[in-house]
Amino acid sequence: MTDTPTPLLPHCATCPYDWSERWCRNAKGKAPADCPSLRMRDLAETSMACMAAEPCGEFARQASREEASCYGGREAGYGAVRPLKPRIVEIVEFARRMGYGRLGLAFCIGLRAEAGVVNEILATNGFAVASVGCKIGGKAKSLLGLEPAEQVDPTAAHETMCNPVFQALALNEARTEFNILLGLCVGHDSLFFKHATAMGTVLAVKDRLLGHNPLAAVYHYDSYCRYLKEPLP
Ligand code: SF4
Repeated sequence: MTDTPTPLLPHCATCPYDWSERWCRNAKGKAPADCPSLRMRDLAETSMACMAAEPCGEFARQASREEASCYGGREAGYGAVRPLKPRIVEIVEFARRMGYGRLGLAFCIGLRAEAGVVNEILATNGFAVASVGCKIGGKAKSLLGLEPAEQVDPTAAHETMCNPVFQALALNEARTEFNILLGLCVGHDSLFFKHATAMGTVLAVKDRLLGHNPLAAVYHYDSYCRYLKEPLP
């Protein structure tokens, strides 16, 4: 086995410059030594070969158009903009912009009530919707080699696994043009994206504790969630 050197990591999250004066926002701006915009210029060109060419090009253009449409007051300048719409509207509008007619909805069974509402909203807006819950297939977790003690309910003789690969394959078979994820677990969402053919977006991620709003823990970093300042056990 050959030792590959650890790559120099980009650190945009800890960029020392104010957002307004960063190089990536202003070509005459400032940048730290490990700035990926400066250090990876070849990748910038490679990425543009994808971003500006089809099929990514149209997707990227419509995503940016939808992004801009999510703000009001733009004519008065950036300082005056105000958000206009929730993400579910953004998704409907983006799908319309792309001319999609058939959407996939991959949801967690724990959010089945919400999935029903989302399905209704999408249908109301004229889309054909193929929806698949995470327990699709009904396979037991024991088939993954999990012990009863590793189940949510250790006393259950059969606990059905989440099967995001089946969700993806079912939506592939339905020939969905765009998939929407609703509440899939960490890791299960990853497997879905890896196996889905169509592009997809996330309406909501799962956060069992925080009402599916994981940023609440981040917003409380200096108060209730200050325990996050120490390594987790
Ligand atoms: S791309 Fe460069 S300038 Fe922009 S945030 Fe990252 S490190 Fe800072």
